[in-house]
Amino acid sequence: MKTKVWTVGESENLSTSYSHITQAAQLLQENEVVAFPTETVYGLGANAFSDDAVQKIFLAKGRPSDNPLIVHIASKDKLNEIVKDIPDYVYKLVDAFWPGPLTFILPKKGELLSTYVTAGLETVGVRMPNHPIALELIKEANVPIAAPSANRSGKPSPTLASHVYHDLNGKISGLVDGGPTGVGVESTVLDCTTTIPTILRPGGITKEQIEFIVGEVKVDKALIEEGHAPKSPGMKYTHYSPNAPVILVEGSEEFLQKQINQFMQQGKKVGLLTTIEGLTKYKADKVITCGSRADLESVAAQLYDVLRKFDEEDVDLIVSESFPQFGVGEAIMNRLLKAAGNHVIVEN
Ligand code: AMP
Ligand code: MG
Repeated sequence: MKTKVWTVGESENLSTSYSHITQAAQLLQENEVVAFPTETVYGLGANAFSDDAVQKIFLAKGRPSDNPLIVHIASKDKLNEIVKDIPDYVYKLVDAFWPGPLTFILPKKGELLSTYVTAGLETVGVRMPNHPIALELIKEANVPIAAPSANRSGKPSPTLASHVYHDLNGKISGLVDGGPTGVGVESTVLDCTTTIPTILRPGGITKEQIEFIVGEVKVDKALIEEGHAPKSPGMKYTHYSPNAPVILVEGSEEFLQKQINQFMQQGKKVGLLTTIEGLTKYKADKVITCGSRADLESVAAQLYDVLRKFDEEDVDLIVSESFPQFGVGEAIMNRLLKAAGNHVIVEN
């Protein structure tokens, strides 16, 4: 399959951009899969009403079929066409954060959605992305668009069109290149089937932001303690993994350097994921900086690109700094822990 790539951006004039989006929307209507930018990461979209279209997503990604997809809509009023039993607090959150990186899990309505979208569940995840290209594309396609991240399953999510191209060229019909995405980590997944909402996956909208609007918010036990099955099927899979194993280190600067030294003494080539603040502090075979510790949003924005950059380096393992677990730091640490397969070294 030839993957058609369109560039939509500042250097294009408006009518060219519009024609590119129309062509991409046409492919979606023909039940083909098309990757496109959102404010979080690139999504791999397909007509959520079509079994045929949705199955192509699973095939291209190599995604396990029991991992449901998020449905993307282009206007708030489409929500109640897809889901039912919507609690009042959801409307408050829609007003506060849509379009934006917040996904609601609610009971699905009717039988229109492909059962492959929900992986057979009675609930479905829905969100309205905050990106002009995504919104225009969904509007033009005129159907809800099922879209997981546009990476091969298990790899870090794509935050640049080149990441999508690397993973999926030849496996998908189209790719809309709209430049780098903004937030860099996926949406927050919020279970809204209960009186008090529960975070199933931390993401672009923080727990504190949700609490500010609705009061009490729970966090899925699987995110806090070991030994609980996650309520979000996708959270059980290894994810975000570069080729070399990742080890997360929690402790002082001296402790981190000591761990690096020990691995190097064992003859291993060590890559270090640090921030701009750490660049002159640490010595490793390859040091790559990921944003600034003083600005966790910048770490989130660069995280997946940095994980992918290590694949271009000759390293045997990647040691990563840890980050404070508040605000978007929750999502950063959740992704790093997954990338590391929970391999953490903690200073006593
Ligand atoms: P991705 O599309 O790669 O961003 O992953 C979507 C995430 O949302 C995965 O962790 C899914 O398991 C989760 N998800 C999607 N639909 C549901 C649902 N109905 N119930 C619980 N989790 C869901
Ligand atoms: Mg994903």
